[in-house]
Amino acid sequence: MVTRILYVEDNPLNMRLVRKILKSLGYEMFEAIDGLSGVDLAINEQPNIILMDINLPDIDGIEATTRLKQEDSTRNIPIIALTANAMHGDKERFLEAGCDGYLAKPVSKLELQNTIAIFLDARHNIAV
Ligand code: MN
Repeated sequence: MVTRILYVEDNPLNMRLVRKILKSLGYEMFEAIDGLSGVDLAINEQPNIILMDINLPDIDGIEATTRLKQEDSTRNIPIIALTANAMHGDKERFLEAGCDGYLAKPVSKLELQNTIAIFLDARHNIAV
């Protein structure tokens, strides 16, 4: 089964970079350009992994993560925060919201590939 990944990101350049990486790795990608549509898309599509930007035009990535972790149908989907904000405390705020991992932008192909593989393996091990 093809791995399905949702990326919530309002910056077209970041979206394009990650789209290129995910396509080259053979993943199916879903895209949302704001927090609310990201939450809806996650509930409707049930992706295997969610990549989450922090600064979004409506609710931010932390609020979106909080909502997804409160929702029964999405609480077990790993959420990896992708943010350029290296500000002190951001990582902590994300982890507090229930985020499962954290990557600094711009992400490299190898970084993204490795992080996704770790979460897919974790799910596989639980299932088996
Ligand atoms: Mn943004």
